[in-house]
Amino acid sequence: MTEITILSGKGGTGKTSITAALASVAENAVHCDNDVDAADLHLIFKPTIQETNTFSSGWELKIDQSKCNSCTLCSQYCRFRAIHQDENSNLYINPLQCEGCRLCERICPERAITAVEKTNNHWYISNTRFGILVHADMGPGEENSGKLVTQVRKKAKEIGLAQNNKFIINDGPPGIGCATIASLSGADKVLLVIEPTKTGLHDACRLVELLESFNVDAYAVINKYDINKNVAKDIVTFLNEKQIPVLAHIPFSESMVEAMTLGKTIMEYQPQSEIAVIIKEMWSKLIN
Ligand code: SF4
Ligand code: SF4
Repeated sequence: MTEITILSGKGGTGKTSITAALASVAENAVHCDNDVDAADLHLIFKPTIQETNTFSSGWELKIDQSKCNSCTLCSQYCRFRAIHQDENSNLYINPLQCEGCRLCERICPERAITAVEKTNNHWYISNTRFGILVHADMGPGEENSGKLVTQVRKKAKEIGLAQNNKFIINDGPPGIGCATIASLSGADKVLLVIEPTKTGLHDACRLVELLESFNVDAYAVINKYDINKNVAKDIVTFLNEKQIPVLAHIPFSESMVEAMTLGKTIMEYQPQSEIAVIIKEMWSKLIN
């Protein structure tokens, strides 16, 4: 089983459209949406959820005012300066500053601090017209996206092995953060989706730098290459220097946007189009 992660240095490069298009071409694959902070693959996949699971996103700490004697020991020990005193000298924890380390809970002599596990994150196993999709959503402001990505990938792998799938296709998150690192580790191949803008090039450079610390085969596709052919050329030069093969140049087309708004992949919307042919060829190069 080959695990392929599709990444982009930034949002808005068309990564999800391309991932969905590959889902139309790939046979015998299990799909996994690793972009848990802003999941959108489900808008095209239209999954029918078969199983829902909760995922802990950390701890919420609260001070019981009836037990607290305002000794301030907890605020002195909190490295994140999350514990404050209000105008009545009552101590409270600011949830935006609290990292959920639970040190205050352990050191409070009055046992006035309690921790409640936050379970606002969910992950799902769903049926789709492309096969099984493992996906997730995070509650607003919730943390642990890297761990959640690891969880969905683990489940996708289990399903892939049980079903004897040939591929796992991960729609990775944009950027170079924790969730991207979690999407990369252990993957066999990475496909970088890059758009020809200055920021696209800059963010691709950062992503390639990150990839260099992983033992993974990297490939690239320049999406909407004709919106700025000069920058597209600079990107190809950079990728050549880094020995990253460019598998395809996809031209800009409003059809990609139209397909997306209809909840279809470009292969479903215009199977005979130039882009559909390019994507088929790109998939063939990627897996061979
Ligand atoms: S350590 Fe406990 S008793 Fe002291 S201020 Fe903090 S919560 Fe209150
Ligand atoms: S859990 Fe940790 S970060 Fe949060 S208030 Fe307590 S000591 Fe500070």
